[in-house]
This record gives sequence, C-alpha cells and structure tokens, in this order.
Amino acid sequence: MAEQSKNENQNGHLPPKQDPNTLDLDPNRYERAHIPTGIPPKQDPQVRVHNFREVFLGYDDQQAVVEATRCIHCPSPEPCILGCPVHNDIPRAMMFIEQGDVEAAANVFRLTSNLPEVCGRICPQEVLCEGACTVAGYDKPVMIGKLEAYCTDYQRNRSGFPGRAVEPATGKRVAVVGAGPASIAVAEELRVMGHEVVIYDAWPEPGGLLVYGIPGFKLSKDIIAKKFDQLESLGIGFVGDTLVGQDVTVDDLLEEFDAVFLGVGATIGNRAKLPGEDLKGIYQATEFLVRGNLRPEILPKDMRSLPEIGKHIAVIGGGDTSMDCVRTSRRLQAQHGFADGTITDYYRRTEHEMPGRAEERMHGRQEGVRFEFLVSPVRFIGDENGHVRKIEMERMRLGAPDASGRPRPEPIEGANYQVDADVVVLALGYKPDPMIAKATPNIKMTRWGTFQVENEDNPDTTEAGVYAAGDDVRGADLVVTAIAAGRKAAYAINAWLLGHSAKTGPESPLETSTPEVAAPH
Ligand SMILES: Cc1cc2nc3c(=O)[nH]c(=O)nc-3n(C[C@H](O)[C@H](O)[C@H](O)COP(=O)(O)OP(=O)(O)OC[C@H]3O[C@@H](n4cnc5c(N)ncnc54)[C@H](O)[C@@H]3O)c2cc1C
Repeated sequence: MAEQSKNENQNGHLPPKQDPNTLDLDPNRYERAHIPTGIPPKQDPQVRVHNFREVFLGYDDQQAVVEATRCIHCPSPEPCILGCPVHNDIPRAMMFIEQGDVEAAANVFRLTSNLPEVCGRICPQEVLCEGACTVAGYDKPVMIGKLEAYCTDYQRNRSGFPGRAVEPATGKRVAVVGAGPASIAVAEELRVMGHEVVIYDAWPEPGGLLVYGIPGFKLSKDIIAKKFDQLESLGIGFVGDTLVGQDVTVDDLLEEFDAVFLGVGATIGNRAKLPGEDLKGIYQATEFLVRGNLRPEILPKDMRSLPEIGKHIAVIGGGDTSMDCVRTSRRLQAQHGFADGTITDYYRRTEHEMPGRAEERMHGRQEGVRFEFLVSPVRFIGDENGHVRKIEMERMRLGAPDASGRPRPEPIEGANYQVDADVVVLALGYKPDPMIAKATPNIKMTRWGTFQVENEDNPDTTEAGVYAAGDDVRGADLVVTAIAAGRKAAYAINAWLLGHSAKTGPESPLETSTPEVAAPH
C-alpha cells in the first residue's frame, strides 16, 4: 500500500508534520515546562463508590490545549516516543492539540496504535512515555495519557472510529484465537491488508481482559463494544463461546484457514497452594472481577450472579489486579448494604516494591481501602459450614534481592496473627493456559508455559502457519505491549501469506524493539 493512501485510509486527514525543531527559535520554549500541570477532574470518591463509571471525567478543550502546550518538543530521538512500546509520535500529537486540531492529534495516535483510547486510560504512563518526559525535570510530566484519551474520545464521540480502507481481497483467510488487544491489532491490520479474518474466543463477547478483567471504573466497556462494531464493519467475523483446544483444535482451524494467530493471553490465576484455599468465599481474581463488574447477559450461565459480598474482604496481592479487586469490592459493599465493611489489601513486601500503579493505590485509599504490608497468608480458616472466616498471616521482613531484583520477603518467626475475612480474593498473578499446546503437540511451549516463537518480529510458533503474540508469549504484561506485539505479528503473517519476507511494520517514527517493562499483574 502506498504511504500516502495508507495515511488517508486509516486516518482521514493528517496535516503535514510540523517541524518541532523550529521551536528552538522560540525563546519561550522552556517556559512551556513551567506552565502548571492540569489534572482532569475526577468523580468524588464518596460518589464514585456507588457506581462503576470511570473515575476521570476527562479534559475540556481549554484544559487540553494548556496541558499540551507544556510539551517542550525535545530534539529527536524524543524520549517519550522511545518510552512508548508502539512509538506513538507524541510531540506531533501535542502540537496538533495545542493548535486546536484535535482530530489530527487523534489520527497521529491511530497511526501507530489500534486502541489509543484504551492506552490513554490504562497504560502505566509513569514508567513509559511520561516516565521519559523531559518536563518531569521541571514539574510533573506532560499528561500524555490523559491527552491521548482526550483527543481520541473527542474524535470517536463526534464521528466514531475513523474508517479504514481495505485492500483488494487476497483470497487468504486467517483464524485469530482470543479477542484481547493483541488479537485486535492482528485482526485489524490483517483485514486492511485484504485478508479475511475470523476471531474466536472462549468468552461470549470479544475484548479479552479489556472486558473480562479490567473494571469499568478504569475503562468503559462501551469503548470496546464500539471498537468491535468498527472491526465488524471492516468485515471481521467473531465467534464466541468457543474454546480452542477443546471445541475445535488448531489443526482443525488450519484445515479451514491459511494461518492461525494465537492471542490467548495469560489467563489462569495462580493458586496460593495453602491449607483452606478451597473454602467457600475464596475467589480467584478473574471470577470475582467478572461476576462483580459485568452484566450477567455477557457471562456464561454458571457465572451470572454476584460474588459473595462480605463485611471483611481481604485481597491478597500487590499488582493492578489486586487494586481492581479492592476497588470493585468497595463498590459492591457500598451498593449492597455493607457500607461500614472493611477492605484490606495484604502484600508481602512494602509499598515501595508494589508492581501496580501508584495512581490506582491512591484511588483505592481515597475510596476507603486499607493496606497491610510485609504480611503473607499461611492458611485460611473456615467455620463449621466450610466458609472462610479468618486468615492466619505471617509477618515478613525484606531480605536479599531475588531473581527479579526486588528484596525477597522472609517470614519473621513467632509473629503470626489472624485477621477477619469473610471473603478472600486471590490476585497472585497469571500464567498461560497449556490447553492449546496439549491439544496440538507440534506447538511447543517454553519452560515458563508461554508459546515458543522465533522472535518478536517474526513470532511464528513451532507449527507452520501458526503465530502467537501478547501475554501468551511475553507472560502477563500490558495492553500496550500486546498491541505492539500484535502489530508485528500481523506484518509477519502477511509476509507468510504472500510468500515473501516481512515488510516494515508499523509506521512508527522510530523502528526499535518493544522496551521491556515490568509485568505488574
Ligand atoms: C485484572 C487485570 C487488570 C489489568 N490492568 C491493566 C492495566 O491497568 N493496564 C495494562 O496495560 N494492562 C493491564 N492488565 C494486563 C492486560 O489486560 C493484558 O496484558 C492484556 O490484556 C493482554 O492482551 P492479550 O491480547 O495478550 O490477551 P487477553 O487480553 O488476556 O485476551 C486473551 C483472550 O483469549 C481468550 N482465550 C484464552 N484461551 C482460549 C482458548 N483456548 N480458546 C479461545 N479463546 C481463548 C480469552 O478468553 C481472552 O479473551 C490487567 C490484567 C488483569 C487481569
């Protein structure tokens, strides 16, 4: 596809790139960095615990212009672009917002990302683009994530997702397994290249963890539904309620399709492996979140009821998942007569080592969540009906660094104690499901249980014509790294289908590999 037509197809109009270096001539360049940060307004904590709507209310047009003007347009290579796994051309988008051309700013983000409205909301910007922002040396970094959400919402709310032209049909068909962000990127990119695409997922509705995991107060489900309307309008099919490896195998799909993409994520919650773990009232995080957050109609029949809501809810874990669980618990308690209940997050290291976002912890605290650090459960204690009532905890101290570089938590002998807990949620991390590899022995796994692929740019598995990317290759990670990997997989699959070597991938201003980021879940 010619460069020019690709821009027009994907993005409608896209004005020429302004040379940010002209700002070198601007004597006010560094004064920009001293413009005070504007954080978008939020729902009041007392109000928001009674609903599942997003916390942030978003910038208005004037606030967005002021915030975008804080970008000082660093010389190339711009640190924020390097810090973004999909290498969004952030300074260019900031310039368009500053100039009042909000749609053009949105189009800049859409050029390199399939879900900028999602990334703007839930990327850990503080360790990615904003973590690299030079302005942070003066004040807070430019609120890149909030501005990404602002401009893409502005565009979507006025005119929907911009259309993308589809290349003439190639006659090739691709089955995409899993409907999360990696698969969304693969499916959309392959479809606009002219291939026929059908997505399969085990859940009834598409979206992966964006729907069946991340709560609505972080990310409105409506955005994902509208994204799938757009994918459907491009001609992408979706088949739900289909467990690949059980209802149909990868080999079955290879008979019907020319290639298969596996974007099945890392969705199996780790067990605590402790006495009493199977008591009533103890949940894995995903079950608790989907039953607590989602409309019953989009759940399998056996999950269409709320989880138990107790007076004392204990969540074990320190990542974003545990924060989603405590904040879901708070909303359930507020709405179901337990307003005076307690919610405590128990974590075995200190807050400093917690992998989840500080912003989420702040929101949790504002909503009444308690934290206990340097503690770890040793057993769950039930009543005569086999229902959890207490947890025995051991106190920990920090020891020498472990393989992850973080100090290893070590138990303090003789310091065990018990806490009340009539609901317990385990948020102990995720691993990929071995089901597909078991059903298709040619597909090999690594010792971490992820799919073995050639490399990130050409992620073909050990079965010809089968590719994989996202959490099922990287291990539990992030939405943006899944999108980045999915886009690369799409280019590799296209090359395989057309029988030539992979053409250059995303229209990124930089062609570097995806940066490694800590898996926070
Ligand atoms: C509670 C929670 C909160 C999170 N919060 C954040 C956050 O704030 N920011 C962030 O960047 N990341 C967050 N993440 C991580 C992020 O959601 C994932 O990294 C991302 O969704 C991975 O995308 P994926 O496409 O690889 O897989 P997923 O989104 O996991 O999608 C995989 C899909 O494959 C389907 N599937 C699995 N096996 C099969 C099968 N055999 N047959 C058919 N379908 C199958 C699953 O049903 C699922 O729909 C969070 C994760 C969790 C669990």
